[in-house]
Amino acid sequence: MNSGRDLRIVKGITPDRVHIGEPENLPERFAQRALGMKASEIRSLFVVASRPEIISLAGGMPNLSALPMEVMASVTQKLIIENGQEALQYGSGQGHPKLREQICDVMALEGIKAHPDDVIVTTGSQQALDLISRIFINPGDVVLVEAPSYVGALGTFKQYEAQVVHVQMDQDGLIPSALSSAIKTTRAAGRKIKFLYLIPNYQNPTGVLLPADRRTEILEICRAEDIFVVEDNPYGLLGFEKPSPNAMRASDSENVIYLGTFSKTIAPGLRVGWALVPQSLKDKMVIASESSILCPSNFTQLVISSYLANQPWRDQITSFAKLYKERRDAALAALEKYFPKGATWTNPEGGFYIWITLPPEIDTNALVPKAIAAKVAYVPGTAFYADGFGSWSMRISYCLPTPERIAEGIKALAGVIKTEMEQRQIN
Ligand code: PMP
Repeated sequence: MNSGRDLRIVKGITPDRVHIGEPENLPERFAQRALGMKASEIRSLFVVASRPEIISLAGGMPNLSALPMEVMASVTQKLIIENGQEALQYGSGQGHPKLREQICDVMALEGIKAHPDDVIVTTGSQQALDLISRIFINPGDVVLVEAPSYVGALGTFKQYEAQVVHVQMDQDGLIPSALSSAIKTTRAAGRKIKFLYLIPNYQNPTGVLLPADRRTEILEICRAEDIFVVEDNPYGLLGFEKPSPNAMRASDSENVIYLGTFSKTIAPGLRVGWALVPQSLKDKMVIASESSILCPSNFTQLVISSYLANQPWRDQITSFAKLYKERRDAALAALEKYFPKGATWTNPEGGFYIWITLPPEIDTNALVPKAIAAKVAYVPGTAFYADGFGSWSMRISYCLPTPERIAEGIKALAGVIKTEMEQRQIN
């Protein structure tokens, strides 16, 4: 006979979810590394920012309005009908061989000559960041990053208990001499540096571009000091006026770990990215990846593969870049028109982001609720530093809203900042 409990299951009646509280001594049962796992402060901001009445200049969500959905639908349908047995099956831990070849063609646009054997397909480049961290970072090891740097990478490095050291940037990206001094100071303090992580093209969060001569200089410094360079390049093909300089990996195949993704050039929902690694690292990367995901999704890899094989994907990237340029122009015009004296900002030549610096008395964290009340959202600067710095700066993203909404949002934000400056008697 069925017990009452079984009957409930048979009838499909789910009992109410009862909150029974945390088991006793839960923190003591966690691994050391889990103790540092905390929801990022900006996650709750993104929840608020996604309300329809708010103009969100916060998230870096690609604008999919330019993606031809009928094409995506027909590519997907054809794939399932003609090759469903493979697409819906497990695949290789390293990634589908055909896609790895096509990825080499994509990277060739930035001067990289790569062999498909050295490409590892990942679930977005975020997974590649996790794999690299897992392979290299012992608790307390140093990772050098730009100041400021990508919040998702900082979160990953923190989970692996790295000590993040920020290296100064200017409007042309990471400053090579600042890198040399950071290496010297860190080593003098007896710490091990595992790698330099940087985003040379239209950086997240500043939008700045690292010029070719600095790329060479940084590569030389890192090679001489035996420090791997992790080159994260989601935005490189989204230049507005001219192509970005060659990737750093193009001139150094032994010391650069290159990360790419289709998130910004096709669609982030497919979750396909990749790492191109020096040969000596390939096996470890594949083993590490297999232990977390077995293999990347054959299905989404093959959707991308057929899209690349059958569609004018370069033209599509050009359409994306055009759409972002219109929005960048709207954002810069609105900043010029509405923002108070005393504020400065970067002038991105590609990508999604503008970095704004305000007078140092302004705390952009404290300003968030006031901005939300004025129906606009941004990300406070401290999110992009591991050490609490950046409280008088902010990142705005112009990728998603329409140009009109961007202007409206920036006008509202300017109003909030001006009021704050008046209250604090800053002029
Ligand atoms: N790196 C940078 C600099 C990014 O901006 C992002 C996404 N915002 C990622 C990595 C992760 O991208 P994905 O996992 O979608 O490839």
